[in-house]
Amino acid sequence: MGEASIPPSVIPIADLRYRAAVPVIPATPRPATGQLSDALGRPLRDLRISVTDRCNFRCSYCMPKEVFDRDYAFLPQTSLLSFEEITRLASLFVGHGVQKIRLTGGEPLLRRHLETLVSMLAELRTPDGRPLDLTLTTNGSLLARKAQALHDAGLRRVTVSLDALDDPIFRRMNDVDFPVADVLAGIDAALAVGLGPVKVNMVVKRGTNDGEIVPMARHFREHYGGRVVLRFIEYMDVGSTNGWRMDHVLPSAELIEQLGATFALEPLEAQVAGETAQRWRYLDGGGEIGVISSVTQAFCHDCNRARLSTEGRMYLCLFAHHGHDLRHLLRQAGASDAEVSGAIAEIWSGRSDRYSELRGRGMASASAGERKVEMHYIGG
Ligand code: SAM
Repeated sequence: MGEASIPPSVIPIADLRYRAAVPVIPATPRPATGQLSDALGRPLRDLRISVTDRCNFRCSYCMPKEVFDRDYAFLPQTSLLSFEEITRLASLFVGHGVQKIRLTGGEPLLRRHLETLVSMLAELRTPDGRPLDLTLTTNGSLLARKAQALHDAGLRRVTVSLDALDDPIFRRMNDVDFPVADVLAGIDAALAVGLGPVKVNMVVKRGTNDGEIVPMARHFREHYGGRVVLRFIEYMDVGSTNGWRMDHVLPSAELIEQLGATFALEPLEAQVAGETAQRWRYLDGGGEIGVISSVTQAFCHDCNRARLSTEGRMYLCLFAHHGHDLRHLLRQAGASDAEVSGAIAEIWSGRSDRYSELRGRGMASASAGERKVEMHYIGG
């Protein structure tokens, strides 16, 4: 597709594989103690791994069709980290304190034999011998087919993205005419095989699906007996292609007010530090919901997440411009585990990113000519 046919709200991309620094292997790599923290004292606890940059949906806020069209060059197979490479890196991250791994993408269930990777990651143990909290975020389209195999391989839980219950609205948002019923079937299959409680993520875009907030809340509280936790996500300015505007964001405070007019709610305490969602509970015992307010109430101060892109770049922030090319260390440099682990420690200990907080204060801006990394590549 030529640039002329791209709507003005969408920014074409020359190459989204951005720049990446080759990490420095320290002369004396520091040993992994499970206690690594960054320049702002934040530990490393959560690793999100993007297993593919491809997706079968074209949600306009994430992978708009006008950009990610038939001619878009996704990463070639040889660029992707192999399951062995992913597992090797994951085990080094675990040595530094990671306790939770989330597989994501793109659409992770498009990666062939993903259950094999799940079974490899399920073998990993934290330094004190505990299994990881191993989970996956999916659009749900292939979940009914794959839930059993994923569970048998050792997956603990899933998060399913669903932006509306109204079928025409949902089909419009995913932009590939995919029906709500099939995603709901995926959620039911996940619960049936023991992948519950299931989290359902709804990205709220003002003027597009904000009319779906109450119907979604009602549906998941009435039909699932607390086994589904619905989370409302503020539409974020991730990447450079979705034409993001602040007036499309529905602040969580407004959303809670809207929900509060129908259901009595009270806030809950966070369960663990670094939790992305603020939790609320229905006073009548109908379960809980979460709001993820990364635009209006940034939570950078306790962000303990690193991200590993499909081709093995480590990113320190969802809004980063640059990654750190760990794959280079594995493939070109032939680095030992101790060296790669030492390089990861150097990268994390120098981390001071807090994009969302700075954006909230009007201080965040892209450097000239640089693009923020896209969500489908870095993983949501
Ligand atoms: N394909 C999988 C899925 O649909 O869940 C995983 C990848 S997707 C990028 C992960 C999550 O990011 C989804 O819940 C998606 O709705 C959310 N997301 C994508 N772009 C977003 C944006 N601009 N703002 C907020 N959430 C976004």
